[in-house]
Amino acid sequence: MSSNPLAPSAALVASVKSAATRNELYDTAAIQKMDSAHYLHPFTDFKQLNENGARVMVRGEGIYLWDSQGKKVLDGMSGLWCVNVGYGRTSISEAVYRQMETLPFYNSFFNTTNVPAVQLATKLAEIAPPGFQHVFFTGSGSEGNDTNVRMVRRYWDLMGQPERHTIISRHNAYHGSTMAGASLGGMDGMHAQGGLPIPGVVHIGQPNYLEAGQGMTEDEFGIKAASWLEDKILEVGADKVAAFIGEPVQGAGGVIIPPATYWPEIQRICDKYGILLIADEVICGFGRLGKWFASELFGIRPDLITFAKGVTSGYVPLGGVLVGDRVANVLIEKGGDFNHGFTYSGHPVACAAALENIRIIEAEQLVQRVGEDTGPYLKERFATLGDHPLVGYTSSCGFVAGLNLVRSKGATVHENVAFDEALSVGMVCRGYMFNNGMIMRAVGDRMIIAPPLVMTRAQIDEMVALIRHCLDLTYEDIKQRGWV
Ligand SMILES: *Cc1c(COP(=O)(O)O)cnc(C)c1O
Repeated sequence: MSSNPLAPSAALVASVKSAATRNELYDTAAIQKMDSAHYLHPFTDFKQLNENGARVMVRGEGIYLWDSQGKKVLDGMSGLWCVNVGYGRTSISEAVYRQMETLPFYNSFFNTTNVPAVQLATKLAEIAPPGFQHVFFTGSGSEGNDTNVRMVRRYWDLMGQPERHTIISRHNAYHGSTMAGASLGGMDGMHAQGGLPIPGVVHIGQPNYLEAGQGMTEDEFGIKAASWLEDKILEVGADKVAAFIGEPVQGAGGVIIPPATYWPEIQRICDKYGILLIADEVICGFGRLGKWFASELFGIRPDLITFAKGVTSGYVPLGGVLVGDRVANVLIEKGGDFNHGFTYSGHPVACAAALENIRIIEAEQLVQRVGEDTGPYLKERFATLGDHPLVGYTSSCGFVAGLNLVRSKGATVHENVAFDEALSVGMVCRGYMFNNGMIMRAVGDRMIIAPPLVMTRAQIDEMVALIRHCLDLTYEDIKQRGWV
């Protein structure tokens, strides 16, 4: 029996998969108190969290989570866009356990390798789009994007064009939180802290039709938004631009789905100026949009693909870069030492988790299901929320979707009237969701989801009904406050 006050009781441990009475087994107040005393959370106002206390998540099964008070919630965000195969996958735990028993760690420096890393690299080359034979492993998506910065600059050095160092990204993009990741990202709040972006990273507008597409069709706007890349290339000087980086669908920025015309035009412009294209597929990869990689969906031929999150369904941290032949051949043939890497590059346990995760995705045909069955069904069901008086716009792609909360609706989406930002209506709505068993994220007044890919049609119905119920509660509340 443990005397640690934060540990679940022995009874819970023994019955973790079946107990009906797990509710009162954790001392939530004690956990919250120690959490406040010692744990600085990511992207958090520490003082505010300490006043409210964190919600303590203790268990997951399928698409559901339970907190320390026994409350069940439907996880509409797959943890943080990552638990693609859902919670409680014993075969992943077993693969991890076996690998830990066999070889918990060895590095890939100094001419050594390990079996799971080799197997995973081979598997990734098989499922990647054509032209990708190599992978560089990291511990996270941020480190993957740091690797991209080092790699594309190294590539151009080796090509005899060392002045090609500038990387173009987009406002409101999210590429991670390391110095390079946060610089590539286009989040003003992040740039304001720590003297970012680093030199040689510049940004253009995002393809957000709602925000900037007034007076245009979506297709016209897609071409327009892509033309900002060409404008920036000409401004910087084509011979100084190393690469363009973008998420096929922007995730953390609010599930911003570009018009169909956008990516082909971006590809054309990159080709025209010989610029490398980096697709950050940390969210979009591993079936999230109904293809192994979203580059296939949008007809992009990237030179580098960042991955993380869904590669292990979040069970163990792992990230990396799929390196296309154009870059890999130069690094291999002309490169000499590439002076970059991490202690945990190719971590055998993480790679073992990824291999089992990918095996599950294949065995359960999750990519095809999202692409051809549950993805289209989610689109159809989610769109029905558009008739709610609070909802001004819905959009979805595969297993990501979002809706905008509006004060009133106009004849077109550009005539909708938004709420005053200071009211934080999105946070009010998120609160109702959370308290009524639904995890939905708020990005301003846009409410977004990215559910586990194992979600069934019946569970989609359940989720959409739950969202509608919470929208009703939000609407009643803000009516009483006089905001509508
Ligand atoms: C989450 C995310 C990252 C960063 O990954 P970490 O594992 O948190 O470092 C990078 N790019 C995109 C698109 C992401 O969503």
